[in-house]
Amino acid sequence: MGAFFEQLNAMTQLRITTCGPEETQALGRRLGEVMEGGELVLMEGDLGAGKTCMTQGIAWGLGVNEHARSPTFVLVSEYEGRHTLFHADLYRVDDPLEAEDLGLDETYGNGGVCVVEWAEKADSIFPDDHLRVVFSVAGPDKRIVDLSAGGDKHKALLVKLKGVVDEDYSRDRES
Ligand code: ADP
Ligand code: MG
Repeated sequence: MGAFFEQLNAMTQLRITTCGPEETQALGRRLGEVMEGGELVLMEGDLGAGKTCMTQGIAWGLGVNEHARSPTFVLVSEYEGRHTLFHADLYRVDDPLEAEDLGLDETYGNGGVCVVEWAEKADSIFPDDHLRVVFSVAGPDKRIVDLSAGGDKHKALLVKLKGVVDEDYSRDRES
């Protein structure tokens, strides 16, 4: 991966800049690969920032054969993989109670992986132990991806992700 990254804090935060959708997918794939089940990924960022793009990568990393699309109309899509992926999009949700009715706690709570786009629409319903991914548009093909972990499970996940991304990065520099 040709991503430039900057380590903000070894345990809780990681900032990665991607140049093009393939790099964001590659980052997602690495994240999916190191997941063990039970993860909750809360994504924030404007329309077109790259949330669905990274989710596609997570799906591939989990061994899902389908192409994950934005579940804007159904709110939650489910994909079979090494761990079941639940992909939620809260763009059309106005009240956190509506999001609570989706029962997302039963997805990550039962060993699935739950990825939520527009998570800020219902922040109050999610537990502290999660991985937050905030996307900022920094140019036509450039996105800044800020990952931060709350709770031991997701801090450990972030450490693992950093390990594999570091390897990709040093391999890229050698070639
Ligand atoms: P969101 O789900 O946040 O609304 P999408 O992932 O659906 O966003 O769309 C991201 C759009 O931005 C796609 O059209 C993609 O091709 C484009 N893009 C350009 N550069 C990047 C990048 N570095 N990372 C992700 N997407 C990018
Ligand atoms: Mg989307």
